[in-house]
Amino acid sequence: MKVCARASAPVLPLVLAIVLIHEAVAAPVATGTGGAVATISAKASESALDILNKGGNAIDAAVAAAATLGVTDPFSCGIGGGGFMVIYLAKDQRVITIDHRETAPAKTSAEWFRQDGKPIDFDTAVASGAAVGVPGTVRGWHEALERYGSMRFNQVLAPAIAVAEQGFTVNPNFNLLLGQNEKKFRQFAPTSELYLHKGKALPSGTLLRNPGMARAYREIAAGGVKAFYEGPIARAIVDAVNKPPVAAGVSVRPGAMRLSDLANYEARIRPALHSTYRGYDLYGMPLPSSGGATVAHALNILEGFDLKALPRARAEHLYLEASRLAFADRNAYLADPEYVDAPLAGMLSKEFAAQRRALIRPDRAAPGAVAAGDPYAFQSDPSVPLRPQPRASLRLAPESAHTTHLTVSDKEGNVVAYTFTIESWGGSGIVVPDYGFLLNNEMTDFDFEGPHPNVPEAGKRPRSSMAPTIALKNGKPAFSIGSPGGSTIITTVLQTVVNYVDLGMPMDQAVDAPRLSQRNASETSVEPGFGGSAQARALEGFGQRWEAAPEEIGAANALVFNPDGTVTAVSEGKRHGVGTALVQRRGH
Ligand code: GLU
Repeated sequence: MKVCARASAPVLPLVLAIVLIHEAVAAPVATGTGGAVATISAKASESALDILNKGGNAIDAAVAAAATLGVTDPFSCGIGGGGFMVIYLAKDQRVITIDHRETAPAKTSAEWFRQDGKPIDFDTAVASGAAVGVPGTVRGWHEALERYGSMRFNQVLAPAIAVAEQGFTVNPNFNLLLGQNEKKFRQFAPTSELYLHKGKALPSGTLLRNPGMARAYREIAAGGVKAFYEGPIARAIVDAVNKPPVAAGVSVRPGAMRLSDLANYEARIRPALHSTYRGYDLYGMPLPSSGGATVAHALNILEGFDLKALPRARAEHLYLEASRLAFADRNAYLADPEYVDAPLAGMLSKEFAAQRRALIRPDRAAPGAVAAGDPYAFQSDPSVPLRPQPRASLRLAPESAHTTHLTVSDKEGNVVAYTFTIESWGGSGIVVPDYGFLLNNEMTDFDFEGPHPNVPEAGKRPRSSMAPTIALKNGKPAFSIGSPGGSTIITTVLQTVVNYVDLGMPMDQAVDAPRLSQRNASETSVEPGFGGSAQARALEGFGQRWEAAPEEIGAANALVFNPDGTVTAVSEGKRHGVGTALVQRRGH
């Protein structure tokens, strides 16, 4: 059998060795001039800086960093997935976005994840060929470079190719993530061969090389975008999706992807979603990501409170309640705008926000999930005949820090905020044989049960939460922010904005602060160590309650453009290991 033959064949000459390598100590905050970068990986930040120092712009450097993250953080992101890039173009003084979200293959139907009239088990859906959406990352990078970059694939992929070939040292965080993925990875032969040793996570200190991914990058560097969407890589993807390369004795749901799904894949250039908050102009991701809209809606609700004048606990209580209401509306209405006419104008109107705000009790948390509001009444033409009943999302699984976010600026003043993903940690778990990259499980971001705006359909993009954001003040970049973490992305971005703008924290403190994620549930997700703290107790006084199993939430990266002309890059000081912030020239 082909599958078994593939399962037992040596996939690649994988070179593993335990080495003692002292990598540069990552610093999560850096201030200086010229370009700046913040990512969760030292090597990715170094790749971006290398490209900036060679004369590349922020767009070139963002692609270089992203490609390197695909090697060093392969469980969060890579060319097997998709993402959303927000770009401030300094010369044009405008913000555009590149939507390169994965799409559902042409054979997809609303029944995709249903069997015998019922939704299938979520984890079974994840580790399968059926979970894989048509990857958008390479097309997104291509559009970014062609339209707004100054370099070509062969230049910006060079640093990532070097890391994939020379290897990098498995750190404790990588080892931890691998440990969490062992069960999923054991199901797929090429994945076990690359990332496990005798079925177990590679230990910290292992030098991990990925010659397959280097080969994929080299083919893209030489042949451009077509090398990914047509030709050997495309064929390898389709084979892996339709006949997953399982380990002996394992069977998973196959997908139904065709070569034409890949050849027809298109990224979308979309205008950024613009909103205002206390003198800032925020530019975020429009649909099919719910990220920009939900952050904007929650901030519109919060704008009616004078948070600065309130004690911290009361301000945070209001933040949680605004988030709850915004999530109710998000869950009910938002989906791919090419398939669903979401009432976005109404939802983002300050008047609708005022109506929602009036539901918040300043001294008491809502007892549980709240109902969606009626944004149709606030559309410019409220008489639209089609006015579907709100549909609550049936699944809002707690998610932790999947995905990755990076941000880069350059000396010309261009800014990139970029979030990209393969969805779950390790995506579908399927490494494409011979090419060393993991395929996404983005199809599981659809709702499994309808009617709902976000059910699977052929060619549709599953609703996302990714929220790369660039804020301007008086027409100039003020800060950028973004995070991984599934639907907690929205709350991380929202809370960081509130921390920075309203609570007056410097950006590094705004990022470091304990994260609280209220997504229209009776309990709020929190991080380890939060329960029992004075902050927690103060919020409990408002009736706020915490989820039983705290988990790290997100791994944000930010830039702040200071009034003195310097830029401060901010990454995480403790989450996901430690991030790396770099500037071209250090100092004030
Ligand atoms: N698939 C998620 C989204 O698009 C991102 C993955 C994650 O962060 O968990 O919102």
